[in-house]
Amino acid sequence: MNFIADRMLGKLARELRMLGYDTIYYPAEDAYRLIKLAREEGRVILTRNTKLLPRIPEDHIIRITEDRASLQIKELVRRGYISLNEEALFSRCLLCNVLLDDIPREEAEGKVPDFIFYQQNHFFRCPQCTRIYWQGSHQENMLKRIEQLKTFG
Ligand SMILES: [Zn+2]
Repeated sequence: MNFIADRMLGKLARELRMLGYDTIYYPAEDAYRLIKLAREEGRVILTRNTKLLPRIPEDHIIRITEDRASLQIKELVRRGYISLNEEALFSRCLLCNVLLDDIPREEAEGKVPDFIFYQQNHFFRCPQCTRIYWQGSHQENMLKRIEQLKTFG
């Protein structure tokens, strides 16, 4: 399932990318364009706007009721829209939403802090913004959160 998050849900969009979900963020107010984009790209709309309604039966709109991004993720899990797949973690750039490339370790040298370079064995690069990712503390925090979601889900 691919998503488009409306202007209220920028943080949720990043969290979904962190979980590996293809999610674009739509920061403008124009609901007509939002729905048009969703249709063109076959995306499910995530919104907190109670007035946004499907215009044709194919429009798929999920109304988020929770306030905080971490609870919104939980809400999507609970309602069965997403599942947590540890292998998909950090497969996607948090900023650009594109899939990351594996890069040889040497290519990260000088582009990440030295202590990170010596600590880590695997690096990934966003083909669009060239930002480099690694399996660092960020991911450990995410794994912990996922464990919590599984326990209390
Ligand atoms: Zn990027």
